[in-house]
Amino acid sequence: MMDCKEIFESLSEYIDEELKDAACRQIEVHLADCENCRVVVNTLRRTVTLYHEIPSETLPGDVRLRLHKMIRMEHPKD
Ligand SMILES: [Zn+2]
Repeated sequence: MMDCKEIFESLSEYIDEELKDAACRQIEVHLADCENCRVVVNTLRRTVTLYHEIPSETLPGDVRLRLHKMIRMEHPKD
């Protein structure tokens, strides 16, 4: 079972559909049980959709930072 941090590290690849099926499934299993991560995925998806209109290979640093902070807030013990 992946934890939220591992999910977070794979999310941009997951959203860009660059993950292998097995990894994708693991994330989906986690998302089914973890509302916090579902919120992050939805937020990230919207953000990625926005940024796809800008020629850039990665998400801007401040977006990563914001999402990271969000996860730390929801999971203080991580
Ligand atoms: Zn989670």
